[in-house]
Amino acid sequence: MRFELICSGTELLRDKINTNSIHIAESLSGLGHSLNQVTTIGDVAEDFEEALKDSLKRSDVVFTSGGLGPTFDDLTRECVSKVIKRPLFFSNNILRAIQKRFASVQRIMPEENRRQAFLLKGAIPILNKNGTAPGQIIPLGKKTLILLPGPPRELLPMMKLSVLPYLKKKYPSQYSETLVLHVFGHAESEIDELIAPVTQNKWDTKMTEVIFGILAHRSIIDVKVTVTGKHAPAGKKLLWKIRQSLYDLLGNKVYGENEETLESVVGSILKKKNLVLSVAESCTGGILAGKITEVSGSSDYFKEGFVTYSNEAKTKQLGVKKETLNRYGAVSEETAREMALGCLKRSGSDLALSVTGIAGPTGGTKNKPVGTICFGIAHTGGVRSFTKMLFGDRGQIRERAALTALNALRTSLQEFKQ
Ligand code: ATP
Ligand code: MG
Repeated sequence: MRFELICSGTELLRDKINTNSIHIAESLSGLGHSLNQVTTIGDVAEDFEEALKDSLKRSDVVFTSGGLGPTFDDLTRECVSKVIKRPLFFSNNILRAIQKRFASVQRIMPEENRRQAFLLKGAIPILNKNGTAPGQIIPLGKKTLILLPGPPRELLPMMKLSVLPYLKKKYPSQYSETLVLHVFGHAESEIDELIAPVTQNKWDTKMTEVIFGILAHRSIIDVKVTVTGKHAPAGKKLLWKIRQSLYDLLGNKVYGENEETLESVVGSILKKKNLVLSVAESCTGGILAGKITEVSGSSDYFKEGFVTYSNEAKTKQLGVKKETLNRYGAVSEETAREMALGCLKRSGSDLALSVTGIAGPTGGTKNKPVGTICFGIAHTGGVRSFTKMLFGDRGQIRERAALTALNALRTSLQEFKQ
């Protein structure tokens, strides 16, 4: 089975992100199908017709998005009619539905909108709850052509309510499941090499197909495995086996799976161990506390955050000694240590996490270049501090510093007994 999408819209070639392709690909994967090709073209009739001709030759299902509006530049209906050699006919039912939609907001339908009441011969109209243009499902023998409007808020519900049920009926769906393992703070190439025995292995069988992928973003590496096949139990068993093999190689480097984030994983461990955390931040200026509190229910384990940006605040709020600041500097393991200990004491929490560093672009020195970040982790039984060199621009360094602090806390917590 081959699926394709043609997106029309000059803005998609200039400054607009094509979110419809992501949505259609995700929807199809739910049925065990993949979107095999996406073609983006401007609002030019000849380009659309050529793209449609080619797509219909090689694919079983072709989607189009955009160009179903009422204005002169919305050409999809006419172009499709020309390519598939089927006439357009006027639907009084659709016209009434459009008029009704205008009436519901006390407006009279402009004459232009009549264009949207034209359907291709043999098309099944798709109700559009959030707009005026109906979508159209056009059966072409074994193949199917599906016309959808461009605005995502119109396309998304139409996919869910009409298109997917139609496809499910016409084409047999497959088992498909994707597992994503998240790793933080390692190079993409390092992880790639480490898991090579798994990714290079021949897992495919007659019943199942396996696809691996590695994606790096914000110092996070996602190892992605998708298993598809006709037989769900065989697919599930295989995915489980691959998961085990990946854990054998990656171990504790994996911080979470699928929807999990570093902050949600840290939160679950804190909750499970019944521990309360507070944080003391300098260079991250509240990003760390922000991330922790992005998780709903974080009030169960997060008490407070001190944003101590100046030396004065570090001393006043956390009791960092002036002598420590003068001797070692604000960005030092000694200061990070005292920040964590001060935070632990003043908050009365079980655990305290501190961050102090140079996010740049100014403020770096030869000994402490931009990207030098010191961390402290204190608990009632002791304290430890360490330094990491992070790279990137100011925003990236601050984000990575917060994630590094969370990851360090995660690994410490796994050893921490209470
Ligand atoms: P309308 O009735 O609004 O004219 P239409 O079906 O003619 O709908 P377009 O005119 O192509 O669709 O696009 C309408 C809006 O939807 C624009 O804001 C456009 O940027 C957005 N849009 C179109 N295609 C996509 C896409 N692939 N991803 C995200 N947004 C899109
Ligand atoms: Mg339009």
